[in-house]
Amino acid sequence: MPQYTPPVRDTRFVLEHVVGLDRYANLPGFQNASPETIDAVLEEGGKFVAEVLFPLNQSGDQEGCTRHDDGSVTTPKGFKDAYRQFVESGCGTLSAPAEYGGQAMPHVVSTAFQEYMISANMAFAMYPGLTHGAIAALLAKGSPEQQKKYVPNMISGHWGGTMNLTEPQCGTDLGLIRTKAEPQADGSYSITGTKIFISSGEHDLTENIIHLVLAKTPGAPDSSKGISLFVVPKILVNDDGSLGEHNAVSCGSIEHKMGIHANSTCVMNYDGAKGWLVGEEMKGLAAMFIMMNAARLGVGLQGLGVGEVAYQNAVQYAHDRRQGRALTGPAEPNEKADSLFVHPDVRRMLMHAKAWTEGLRALALWGALQVDLETAAASDEEKQLAADLVGLLTPVIKGVGTDKGYEIATEAQQVYGGHGYIAEWGMEQYVRDARISMIYEGTNGVQAMDLVGRKLPANAGRAVQALFKLVGEEVAAAKGDEATADLAGRLEKANGELQAATMWFLQNLTNPNNIGAGAYSYMHLMGIVATGLMWLRMASAAAKLKASGEGDTAWLDAKLTTARYFAERVMPEAGALRRKIEGGAEAIMAIPPELFAVA
Ligand SMILES: Cc1cc2nc3c(=O)[nH]c(=O)nc-3n(C[C@H](O)[C@H](O)[C@H](O)COP(=O)(O)OP(=O)(O)OC[C@H]3O[C@@H](n4cnc5c(N)ncnc54)[C@H](O)[C@@H]3O)c2cc1C
Repeated sequence: MPQYTPPVRDTRFVLEHVVGLDRYANLPGFQNASPETIDAVLEEGGKFVAEVLFPLNQSGDQEGCTRHDDGSVTTPKGFKDAYRQFVESGCGTLSAPAEYGGQAMPHVVSTAFQEYMISANMAFAMYPGLTHGAIAALLAKGSPEQQKKYVPNMISGHWGGTMNLTEPQCGTDLGLIRTKAEPQADGSYSITGTKIFISSGEHDLTENIIHLVLAKTPGAPDSSKGISLFVVPKILVNDDGSLGEHNAVSCGSIEHKMGIHANSTCVMNYDGAKGWLVGEEMKGLAAMFIMMNAARLGVGLQGLGVGEVAYQNAVQYAHDRRQGRALTGPAEPNEKADSLFVHPDVRRMLMHAKAWTEGLRALALWGALQVDLETAAASDEEKQLAADLVGLLTPVIKGVGTDKGYEIATEAQQVYGGHGYIAEWGMEQYVRDARISMIYEGTNGVQAMDLVGRKLPANAGRAVQALFKLVGEEVAAAKGDEATADLAGRLEKANGELQAATMWFLQNLTNPNNIGAGAYSYMHLMGIVATGLMWLRMASAAAKLKASGEGDTAWLDAKLTTARYFAERVMPEAGALRRKIEGGAEAIMAIPPELFAVA
């Protein structure tokens, strides 16, 4: 049976020393997050997920969701009760606005909790996760009446939310959407079409589900410019807030899929369902992007969350399992064999997981801080910097976070040898669950294109220049300190590779395939630099704490050594990634499609 312990000590370290939460104590929202409150969220929230959600992870995977003949869907045994407890715990309302019943804490706090929830049970965490994305879109683009009607019950967790983009013929290319929205005399729209792969589209956890649906109005351009966003409740809501009739929306089937079995992935049929326009007509994509940006950061966290729990179990297994002897001679001569921990190749896998999970935790929480600062920072300049960093780093946190999460899950499985392949140990579930996060919310290839095609050139490269400057300044400050000089020097080199790759893109725009061919490597190169910056901050803090005699020396030493591992074993990949980018598109694009099949 797998185990899970929320990494509270590491989260606290990051919040204190990487995010530097105390520096923002006077900003709106941050006053609701005193160190004591944050401790309570991490400790109590961590206890809740470990005791209530984690025990349902394997059983939920085995049982999956069930669709009944009437179109209703039931979640696995125990989910309904766990969801009730989740709602009562208040853990779902941490960073929601106070005027709608939330606790108005910074995003960075709810993000820390969300990681724990995903580690404990990713499929469960998706039900409230999707709702949060829908809330974000309604708060940004919904009318005051829509906000009043739907948002409080969604924040409290009594109603769920979904996002409906995908159709059979339309995945990445949303311009291909066929779902129609016909205006009605009463100001509503009649929505008709089929959406597929809708996460949490139908289930038994909430009394209502508020679907946000992309559709085209009559005469709208048949492209992404013609898309509008609609709010379509499963059960219509009367003006007094009570629930009325069932809307003409139903779940036609649920998908049988590789992982996250306990989250219902639904085909949703809209048969003249009543919906209402959210925001302006034909501006639906912009509205949906608000939801998708929130969701993309959440999906990045899925990589971290699943990677973390897989890593924790691999560590335990490496302690318990005895095979072979240390290359340097028996470590425990009284035993018949040494533990797996003595083997450098096993350590390689564990160090890779440790360096990336701790680095990604710091990056995800620092990214969440930027989401807060976008609106709460003291000056317009700081707000703009935060917004630039959020835009730039969202595809990196999503794309690199989930690629690494999957990599960690498979390496953790590898530590188990053959037992990793056997279901009862739980590791193969982590591999299956982690896989989807690289695909949905825009595949990781599409994240890379978003980064290079949209985020880099925006505002004449202002965001990437800001990142270069930030890294440059922190490197300069850390170079003079013996404890961090080597790490700083290597980060400076990686940052130089990123600058050179950026320049190469600018000089090779004449062939757009050069951008498409290099984007994925570029996203990973930026991931190394951004995570490297996090490691520099963590190493600086650990060195200072150690020098001042504060903290647990062994733990701080492990932090410093992990930083060194990242510098010596991960940062050198930056040079190879740059050279891949500079290889351009030619060898990728030269072979005609008909020659790809060799038979
Ligand atoms: C379990 C699950 C849950 C999901 N949940 C939801 C949900 O809640 N709501 C929702 O609306 N959708 C959901 N999806 C759909 C998901 O977001 C899409 O599968 C995803 O966006 C990719 O679309 P597609 O599958 O049609 O692949 P395609 O768009 O057909 O892409 C196929 C391949 O081509 C690449 N590609 C496509 N276009 C480009 C391009 N322009 N440039 C470079 N490469 C390109 C892709 O990267 C991919 O590798 C879910 C899917 C699954 C499997």
